[in-house]
Amino acid sequence: MRDKYISYVDKIQDFKGHTQGLKFPLEINGDKEIAWINISLREPHVAKVYFNVIRLYQKEKNIPIPTYGYNDTNFLPLEYNDTKSLLIEFIELYLKTVEEIKEIYADYLLQLFGIDIKNYWKGLEKKEIKDLVDISPFQIEIPCEYLGCEDEQFDWMDEEIKCSTVEKFGDLSGTTYYNKNRKDLKATFKRYQKAPGINRHEVTLQESWARDCMNSDSENIYQNIITSVHKVHRLWGLDFEGIKPRPINGSVLISQFSMGFGLSTDEIKTMIYGNVGEITSNRENQGIIRKLRNKGMIRKLEKDEGGKKGVYVWTEMVKLLRMSLNQYFLCPECLTRMQYDYENYCHYCSACKKVIRY
Ligand SMILES: [Zn+2]
Repeated sequence: MRDKYISYVDKIQDFKGHTQGLKFPLEINGDKEIAWINISLREPHVAKVYFNVIRLYQKEKNIPIPTYGYNDTNFLPLEYNDTKSLLIEFIELYLKTVEEIKEIYADYLLQLFGIDIKNYWKGLEKKEIKDLVDISPFQIEIPCEYLGCEDEQFDWMDEEIKCSTVEKFGDLSGTTYYNKNRKDLKATFKRYQKAPGINRHEVTLQESWARDCMNSDSENIYQNIITSVHKVHRLWGLDFEGIKPRPINGSVLISQFSMGFGLSTDEIKTMIYGNVGEITSNRENQGIIRKLRNKGMIRKLEKDEGGKKGVYVWTEMVKLLRMSLNQYFLCPECLTRMQYDYENYCHYCSACKKVIRY
């Protein structure tokens, strides 16, 4: 069996420890594997399955895979902000996927090892696959997202949170691990910037905590998830309701993006606030065009969008940067949130009438 499927051989841990298994993709979206199953070659052939509910949701709802994530793309566009109905839909999709996996696992057992679980249990009352296959979550990740928010606005957490170490990465995602280093806590907590305008605070539940949360019906799972998030916050010395983004000045964000993208603050300002819809490449701007293309900030206009040779438009990521920056642009004189005037390409303060042109 191992030799027949040699390209699928992967490591797996079953009840007896480390061994080899066969790992097959279950679901693909675009060129990305979004769910897989790994079945142990050793009896009783337990399997480990991975799936990402957000990625399955993207596929099911035909939501285009975003192109503007800082590290990966498992997030939804900002307009998906009805948190209660989303969580209910995610739970239903989770439960549906779990049922499908039972059938898939039974099929693999039959095809790979000739084991028909229905026969296996002959004589017992249980007859349906869903009753014969037992599935239990090993680890679940619960994302709590703050929309229209940037990493900087939550940096106060680094000081206030109760944990043994804070580990922060210096890329655009600013991934921060708040480590507790306590084996009895079957949970971890981290925070990172998923994309411009999406700050994700991720609670991971492991082993018994994951099982206690998810082994139930949809209504209880809903309550359990909320309770688990609150519980983890309390353990980390935080109050969920008290987690509020700090107001931030647009110029702080501009310098942050400037460092993150390796562009000057003037280049960032021109991009965000400048009077430019399209850019046409010419002899002088080759350097900046190449730079913006590499950063995923401009793309060629397709033929069916009226594209011409050498004409570029801003990508979705720049539109998001604009949105999140405009939201936090505070007047340097009186600290009122400034409005952006798209006709005159300037920020103006409705309180003290200050105008900033670009
Ligand atoms: Zn003002």
